[in-house]
Amino acid sequence: MIQENIRSKFPLLDVEVHGRQLVYLDNAATTQKPLSVIEALDDYYRRRNANIHRGAYHLAAAATEAYEAVRRQVQSFIGARHAHEVVFTRGTTESINLVASSFAKRYFKGSDEVIVSGMEHHSDIVPWQLAGATLRPIPFSDEGVLDVDAYERLFTPQTRLVAVCHVSNTLGTVNPVRRMVEIAHAHGVPVLVDGAQAVAHLKVDVQEIGCDFYCFSGHKMYGPMGVGVMYGREEILGELPPYQGGGEMIETVTFERTTYNQLPYKFEAGTPSVGDVVALGKAIEFMLQVGVGNIASHEEDLLQYATQQLLQLPAVRIYGTAPGKASVISFLVGQAHPYDVGTLIDQLGIAVRTGHHCTQPVMDRYGIPGTVRASFAVYNTHSEVDRFIDALNRVIPMLQ
Ligand code: PLP
Repeated sequence: MIQENIRSKFPLLDVEVHGRQLVYLDNAATTQKPLSVIEALDDYYRRRNANIHRGAYHLAAAATEAYEAVRRQVQSFIGARHAHEVVFTRGTTESINLVASSFAKRYFKGSDEVIVSGMEHHSDIVPWQLAGATLRPIPFSDEGVLDVDAYERLFTPQTRLVAVCHVSNTLGTVNPVRRMVEIAHAHGVPVLVDGAQAVAHLKVDVQEIGCDFYCFSGHKMYGPMGVGVMYGREEILGELPPYQGGGEMIETVTFERTTYNQLPYKFEAGTPSVGDVVALGKAIEFMLQVGVGNIASHEEDLLQYATQQLLQLPAVRIYGTAPGKASVISFLVGQAHPYDVGTLIDQLGIAVRTGHHCTQPVMDRYGIPGTVRASFAVYNTHSEVDRFIDALNRVIPMLQ
């Protein structure tokens, strides 16, 4: 009942593909958007658009207030101590690149190591390599559980930072980030948590986790593409140099010398995506109205239901079976290439992702080219899981 009410808010769920109603199970890549988000974007550009922070006129002041109000909303949503610890970016990728670039400039000494998990997304690997770090990956078990003892042994005098995903986009593992932060801090090392796959599925409290940075994308939590967040603890953000130069991030500019604006503006050079930020506020409202706990328990229910049925199918192997995992199922069918599975079930209206999911080291760990990945959101239903399983049942004979 509650499900029907939720689904009616998502126009895209009514779309048909190949003559059938779409079953959208690619939520780890991006979620669909509720009407409130779509309408907020439309309303912003119809009635509220002005550049922020610099205008003396009403429209600019109102746009600025709408933008800053979402900063306070995000602060409360993730439990940050201050609103100025919330920096708006284009998404998780830009957030991590920002930290990697500024952190390296401030703290790297020429022989620098960053500890990452073995299940990181490329967005939390490549920026550190670009910054010049040597990566120290934390191994994980066949089930997809990080080896915390091995993690403790990776710290050396050259360790500058730990960067770890809260939830793995490929395996669904929910990593013990709080414990990992305690261990890193005991070594005097700060921690960045990639929360791209966490914020839409579990209650995040950055102060409770104790991390120094927390990064996520609006589009994976029912918000628009083009906006994300880099949370940084005030003490550490204050120490970092700016990432990009331009308007808004300055205090004074002369041809000889520039001084920088206060937090968070020091890290928000140029015109931000104001309409997207405003719409992100509506996505947060949507999540709070449904209740993050209700979202989590609904997805857990779908995960269990789908997993049990998948395990009944011949030749299906699931990758990532960590206890308490999030609503992501990666799997392979016999010797079939994941792309073939995805393409065949697409003909039956089922949208899943196939490939390495930007986690090539995970694929190397298992010696596989990629997986098929089904990932659930609050609007998915048992009957959609049934259609997904039915589609697999129909295509499996064609794959052997
Ligand atoms: N980190 C993780 C764990 C992800 O799943 C993703 C996207 O799939 C990213 C980072 C990158 O997010 P974006 O492409 O929104 O910047």
